[in-house]
Amino acid sequence: MNILILGSGGRESAFAWKLSQSPKCEKLFIAPGNAGTGQYGTNVNIKTTDFAAIKTFVLANAVNMVLVGPEEPLVKGVHDFFLADDDIKHIPVIGPQAEGAQLEGSKDFSKQFMVRHNIPTAASHTFTRETLQQGFEYIPTIGLPVVLKADGLAAGKGVLICLTHEEAQLELTEMLTNAKFGEASSKVVIEQFLQGIELSVFVLTDGNSYKVLPSAKDYKRIGEGDTGLNTGGMGSVSPVPFADEVFLQKVEERIIIPTVQGLKQDNIPYKGFIFIGLMNCGGEPYVIEYNCRMGDPETESVLPRIESDLVDLLEGVAEGNLIEKQFLISDKVAATVVCVAGGYPGEYLKDKVITGIDNVRDSIVFHAGTSLVDGEVHTSGGRVLAITTLQDNLFDALQHATADASRIYYDGVYFRKDIGFDLL
Ligand code: AMP
Repeated sequence: MNILILGSGGRESAFAWKLSQSPKCEKLFIAPGNAGTGQYGTNVNIKTTDFAAIKTFVLANAVNMVLVGPEEPLVKGVHDFFLADDDIKHIPVIGPQAEGAQLEGSKDFSKQFMVRHNIPTAASHTFTRETLQQGFEYIPTIGLPVVLKADGLAAGKGVLICLTHEEAQLELTEMLTNAKFGEASSKVVIEQFLQGIELSVFVLTDGNSYKVLPSAKDYKRIGEGDTGLNTGGMGSVSPVPFADEVFLQKVEERIIIPTVQGLKQDNIPYKGFIFIGLMNCGGEPYVIEYNCRMGDPETESVLPRIESDLVDLLEGVAEGNLIEKQFLISDKVAATVVCVAGGYPGEYLKDKVITGIDNVRDSIVFHAGTSLVDGEVHTSGGRVLAITTLQDNLFDALQHATADASRIYYDGVYFRKDIGFDLL
């Protein structure tokens, strides 16, 4: 089978690493990929949203499957584009069609979906510019803090946690009438704050059956002790020790099954990954958000723990017989530490020479924001490398991942030394 992965981050590096190990994978292409993905397959200089160029490429290279990494091409309808074209509609795309991708592309859509299917989530209401006044009146009724969410995709920045009602009213005005997050905040979901510990659960589904992938916890803030600005993610750990069997049973019964069945009931075909962001509130799971793809850097911790052949599983998704596929998960613990560029998540340094990758001892180095310049690996993004290790216990995993991250050098290199230590 010839497979094309769309994307260029650490998540896509982890997919490329895993898929390239399968005896079923003949040729692997990554569009556009990065300096690291070239070791698992062939990088192709095509943007993930250039659907016409993707079509030309898959036909010229006899691609049999397309795996979509990030949300943008899904929300923009890459899967629908394939289905609507007689030349390529036989090529399976892993990732939902635009309607299913609305679980991530519209917070209002996903809240309505959860309410419709009795899936536990925070109480909320959606407001527009026309209903701003009602929004003002709703705010004091849901306690403090108040959570405001831009309805559309806002590059992970569209959620505000407001500590006072006045702040919430001010921000609501900024979002609705002053387009604080552009078109994405033309609708705003106002939501009750959930107190608890966050974790993520990932599901792979063919639209009927599903496999629950290993759970993971990610670390969003730039600073140690989870302080400072939000980032795309500074590290992750899998499994999550506080997500025990009893809790995960509740997640499956109350959230995963109703989600997969709800999509079916609503006639929304869905073949791909569902990322469920959860809050564990005193042992009870609530959905914070859905994403229509895997997380980054959670993928880097989750995939190394899957022992089964991922190509075989994706074939099951494409052919609708996922239920028959073998699915084994390792008991080992994975930890991922992300090395970022100096200055990230603000203005950050670029084009710095990276050294030390060969000195890494016990980890896999997944490239993210890297590029090859005259045979040298340079930084080219905010999140540069994800260092993942798989060990027998959490302590060893955290120690090895952190030690290996410190073997990497480039001007401005930074990583958090406390990833996962709160879980010990
Ligand atoms: P989202 O984009 O919906 O995942 O929100 C981004 C982050 O905001 C989440 O990862 C949580 O840390 C936080 N958050 C979102 N909704 C809530 C909520 N209802 N209660 C508490 N924290 C929340």
